[in-house]
Amino acid sequence: MVDIGSDVSIGDGKVVIMAGPCSVEGYDQIRNTGAALKENGLCILRGGAFKPRTSPHTFQGLGLDGLKMLRAVANEFGLYVITEALSVENIRDVSEYSDIVQIGSRNMQHYPILWAAGEQDKPILLKRGFMNTLDEFLLAAEHISSRGNSKIILCERGIRTFDNTTRFTLDISAIPLLKQRSGLPVVADPSHAAGRADLVTSLSLASIAAGADGILVEFHPNPQNALSDGNQSLPLDTLPKFISQMRSVAFALGRNIH
Ligand code: PEP
Ligand code: MN
Repeated sequence: MVDIGSDVSIGDGKVVIMAGPCSVEGYDQIRNTGAALKENGLCILRGGAFKPRTSPHTFQGLGLDGLKMLRAVANEFGLYVITEALSVENIRDVSEYSDIVQIGSRNMQHYPILWAAGEQDKPILLKRGFMNTLDEFLLAAEHISSRGNSKIILCERGIRTFDNTTRFTLDISAIPLLKQRSGLPVVADPSHAAGRADLVTSLSLASIAAGADGILVEFHPNPQNALSDGNQSLPLDTLPKFISQMRSVAFALGRNIH
């Protein structure tokens, strides 16, 4: 179990829904998202400030300004922040402004970032590299813990397979396997796995049914105009319905939602 704050832990039996846009695009966008999370009883706001984009010609994030917006909105609504650290140089800033530091799929085996993550005092959410085995994933987590930080949450976010109907393939079996083998909390990211919004609810339900301690899911006030990952983002006004669907699977398994 990893404590995020005095009132929220990941891996305590409850399902944590971490939601928000792919990228912080501006103050209004992130504030609207934070307000919706609060209204719907969620407690962890996601949003990227430093963005690892496949193409260098697309939006790369607002950087430090984005971090400050996330923090301001989270403070206003009493939320926690999860955001990605993209490099050793910015991990200190990310750690200072956030409550959970995310290490992205593309950096899962970037050992200097893992070592730097091991020196932070914030919980680390480590995403599985989309070309990596579970053994490699677990060893990457040990690179973090070997430097003194054992507050680690593992995230299955889809792996590359021969099938390109979806952006990646969510490896559902990884969820129980990682839990068995590591004892760490395990969450799933259905958004980056699917790459398309119409599958995100199904994959989220399946992840919870498979025992995930939470989900990290992209919601945007206006997905059509999103500066990144609009295709896979759910519209913010569908959040209440989404939560109630997640709640029914959680309840069926004797669990609750954070
Ligand atoms: C993200 O969650 O913002 C992200 C970039 O995901 P991934 O590292 O899994 O591609
Ligand atoms: Mn994204």
